[in-house]
Amino acid sequence: MPLKNSQTLKIYNSLTGKKEVFKPINVGHIGMYVCGPTVYSNVHLGNCRTFMSFDMIFRYFKHLGYKVRYVRNITDAGHLVDDAEDGEDKIAKKARLEQLEPMEVVQRYTLDFHSILEKFNFLPPSIEPTATGHIIEQIEIIKEILEKGFAYEINGSVYFNVAKFNETHEYGKLSGRKLEDMIANTRELAAQDEKKNPQDFALWKKAEPEHIMRWPSPWGDGFPGWHLECTAMSTKYLGETFDIHGGGMDLKFPHHECEIAQAEACNGHSPVNYWMHANMLTLNGKKMAKSTGNSILPNEIFSGENSILSKAFSPSAVRFFMMQAHYTSILDISNDALLASEKGFQKLMDAVGNAEKLPTTDKTSSFDVSVWRQQCYDAMNDDFNSPILVAKLFDAVKQINLIKEEKETISKTDKKLLSQTINDFVFDVLGLESKNSIDETGTDKLSGVVELLIQLRKEARENKDFATSDKIRDQLAALGIQLKDGKEGTTFSI
Ligand SMILES: [Zn+2]
Repeated sequence: MPLKNSQTLKIYNSLTGKKEVFKPINVGHIGMYVCGPTVYSNVHLGNCRTFMSFDMIFRYFKHLGYKVRYVRNITDAGHLVDDAEDGEDKIAKKARLEQLEPMEVVQRYTLDFHSILEKFNFLPPSIEPTATGHIIEQIEIIKEILEKGFAYEINGSVYFNVAKFNETHEYGKLSGRKLEDMIANTRELAAQDEKKNPQDFALWKKAEPEHIMRWPSPWGDGFPGWHLECTAMSTKYLGETFDIHGGGMDLKFPHHECEIAQAEACNGHSPVNYWMHANMLTLNGKKMAKSTGNSILPNEIFSGENSILSKAFSPSAVRFFMMQAHYTSILDISNDALLASEKGFQKLMDAVGNAEKLPTTDKTSSFDVSVWRQQCYDAMNDDFNSPILVAKLFDAVKQINLIKEEKETISKTDKKLLSQTINDFVFDVLGLESKNSIDETGTDKLSGVVELLIQLRKEARENKDFATSDKIRDQLAALGIQLKDGKEGTTFSI
């Protein structure tokens, strides 16, 4: 019997504000859509946390035996600077600044995104569609919305008519906003604004002559509004109504609210049964922002090349750190938190290794493995409560260490079940990798060896043995290790 038949899963639905028993539309199958990155810069660590939460959720569904179609898009056009209605396309702006083709920008940062996710041991989604690959589908949806009377065309642009939609539907139901309040709190439309109301949003924008990313449409050359791509791609691959839509908390309004409005206007019914939102990551207690310097990139954490942390941390240690918070809570990253998390991760990995080598008894186990195993499932069944799961895994770590010291006992069957369960949750569900902890030890050893060579080179130079000192520097360089002499001594980078 697949696990999904014996486990009752509850999901916190942002739309209803309640934890609800999860019932998929088609028995045994799940359709899940998560808003992916806008690929105009290196992937943000906070975004990695959001995607990691959904990777864990994807992994747990698969572990339970569901067939999951997981769609995570790539936004490669239409997302304007400051999420605004007017302004430059984020990708086109980067292309202009770096003198690249927009698609070169897209390619560069899509590769970066994939390489970081691979380091974090993400499972690839089932489909990773792009906005530019679905212009035709987006135009079709606009035509449909226009036909149903929920949009209007003006000067080659098409806008969604929020007030009209709100007469028969409820705009703002996901984010808990009322249109009347929104109207009361907005300023008058600027004279140059062609929209009927400030709440209206663009489905299609006319491309000015200097706009490089443009496509022909029934309304002239232009480009789709940012919210539209997700409606087009989720409908195409998951159907008019699907199970789960996820994303970062910051996307709730206006992005997801607009997605709901577009889909309901076009198809006449609600697109999503369960809306899930992952919370943000702060750094040293403050919001991460490049402009204030309170920001760090994933690769800067892995390499240790940053001014915020005292050392490098492996992707698995960082992943383990993130899994220790519930996906709906704000999580703060700091040097101390990562150091503590790394220690815990090593302890867990040691216990995973020891679990298979435990001595067994012919008598009964002193630790009820079946009860503990179900507690692990209960944690995940309660809206994917990974911190409770981690606490349960540490209950097992404690038992493993006691059995190892022969202070507690375990039967042969229980040992097998314990080992299997711990492996399932640590590797399959949480997505941790043991090789990273070994890599980390390897990196520490390598650092020790390079430090030793730096010391020998220093001694050679003090003895005016420049042949030896140059040899050390050149041969390290040939291995890809650069030495840099500075006021404070010699440092190295790999
Ligand atoms: Zn989206």
